[in-house]
Amino acid sequence: MIKANYPIPVFENLPTPFYYYDLDVLRNTIEEMKMQARKAAFVVHYALKANVNPSILSIIKESGLGADCVSGGEILAALAAGIPTDKIVFAGVGKADWEINLGLDHDICCFNVESEQELEVINELATAKNKIANIALRINPNVDANTHHHITTGLNENKFGINMSDIEHIINKLPSLENLNMTGIHFHIGSQITDMSPFQDLCIRINEIQKYFINKQIHPTHINVGGGLGINYEHPNHIPIPDFEAYFNVFRKHLSLYPNQTLHFEPGRSIVGQCGSLITKVLYVKRGSAKNFLIVDAGFTDLIRPAFYGAFHHIENLSSDLDMEKYDVAGPICESSDVFAKDFSMNKSKRGDIIAIRSAGAYGEIMASQYNLRKLPNIYTSEDLK
Ligand SMILES: *Cc1c(COP(=O)(O)O)cnc(C)c1O
Repeated sequence: MIKANYPIPVFENLPTPFYYYDLDVLRNTIEEMKMQARKAAFVVHYALKANVNPSILSIIKESGLGADCVSGGEILAALAAGIPTDKIVFAGVGKADWEINLGLDHDICCFNVESEQELEVINELATAKNKIANIALRINPNVDANTHHHITTGLNENKFGINMSDIEHIINKLPSLENLNMTGIHFHIGSQITDMSPFQDLCIRINEIQKYFINKQIHPTHINVGGGLGINYEHPNHIPIPDFEAYFNVFRKHLSLYPNQTLHFEPGRSIVGQCGSLITKVLYVKRGSAKNFLIVDAGFTDLIRPAFYGAFHHIENLSSDLDMEKYDVAGPICESSDVFAKDFSMNKSKRGDIIAIRSAGAYGEIMASQYNLRKLPNIYTSEDLK
């Protein structure tokens, strides 16, 4: 049974669970994002941590985006995808020596540095290789992203970044770190931010911080405002592409750049979130006294966001157009948190029906695990199925 106007196909005879990536959605999202970024000459590095699937990375590479990496493994994935080394930036609060050395060996564009000690270590490793490392200071702007507390990163209580109260000391120390070249300042306040006001707050804060640097005769050549733009998890069909125009406009309007400064962005979720769905099959329909359960063959080992962050995903039965019923959609894993949705209205379902858990392109496949000795999910793209 094929549903009219349904943007993803009904899958038959493919082994479930699997991730399905609609590469047209991905390409259209990137095109829209690039068009909006071009208006203000914004530079965009895709945050690999959202999804490093090779089909996706190859489209990212073709589109000319840079790479924002948070581990040596991600640097290797960016290199394998053919992303030029001068478009790779490396962030993260706990960079190991081998990861820093990897970045130095490939002359990556910038290390986004999160502590004084990390500055010393990068300087030492760069000196040993007779190289100059470009660095940006990741500053904690103390801006509340008003998002889930596990994905808020820009508050003083978070582990990320350098607090402004420590910046003076670090700036005074920089001249003695001779193999470092400070080129920028970096921020990242959180993720799944759909209200634009935290981004506006960030701009205002950056303007103040910029004044501070300029007063010290320090002129960063780039400002990096990180990622964090959210997607619409409720309406993946109606709103498949985030409002990049509104997002970039906040920065055009509220952030004051100095001459010759470029503004960099690191979107992850907003690029890849909507192109992915987790496709799963109904194993059992359990009719309880208080609730109906749909037990499906995907679990939090395939998509951990609901269990981890209480995240919402829209769920659809691709095989049924019967009347709506309410279900708790749960996986097979031996943990009570292995539930994708509670009291969720879907077409009446039966054993064998194919279910799509939508908006699963970001922080889905990449967070999969093998707990309970389960297999990792399979992957199909729209091109594989043509
Ligand atoms: C996670 C992260 C991003 C991407 O965040 P999204 O919410 O997926 O856009 C960008 N920059 C840094 C430093 C990050 O840690």
